[in-house]
Amino acid sequence: MKTVFIAFGGNLGDVADSFHKARADINKLPGTSVRSSSLLYRTPPIGPAGQPDYLNAVIAVKSALAPLILLDALQAIEKRYGRERHEHWGARTLDLDIIAIESETISDERLTVPHAHMFDRQFVLRPLCDLAAQWQHPESGETAAARLEHLIAAGETPLPEGEAW
Ligand code: ATP
Ligand code: MG
Ligand code: MG
Repeated sequence: MKTVFIAFGGNLGDVADSFHKARADINKLPGTSVRSSSLLYRTPPIGPAGQPDYLNAVIAVKSALAPLILLDALQAIEKRYGRERHEHWGARTLDLDIIAIESETISDERLTVPHAHMFDRQFVLRPLCDLAAQWQHPESGETAAARLEHLIAAGETPLPEGEAW
């Protein structure tokens, strides 16, 4: 069993409802249980302009599934709640990304772990810090908390406070 951090994002439809259903579905996957959830953050969109704000959160699960099997399962859950891919980084109902699996690194054509953009994204780092502020990136050794502070010190506006979900 490994600890896996999964990021949730979405900005179309009843996103909080999709998040609740997806979290329950993840908890039902074989050999997998949800251990904790970050607060829920409302964040400005990246990518194409004119999209609604996003909701973002991170959960920690314990899972015995092989990483690519877990990815398949998460993609099936995205589909179940209506995910359609139109434009890159465009609006979507539900995005489920594997952020990290303990201190493992994976470079598969379908799966990069830690997630390639996690250290550039407050909407990942802020909720990850709710759960594991001292998690260290296996390549740089930098912690999630230090990286979040770095982005804010470099001039980014901190996210507003999150809420329970
Ligand atoms: P971003 O990667 O910038 O967050 P996105 O989440 O919108 O973009 P998707 O359309 O959800 O991108 O996924 C594109 C592909 O990314 C997927 O088909 C999947 O194979 C691949 N991928 C690579 N690494 C990961 C990861 N750590 N978690 C989820 N998907 C990943
Ligand atoms: Mg994503
Ligand atoms: Mg994705």
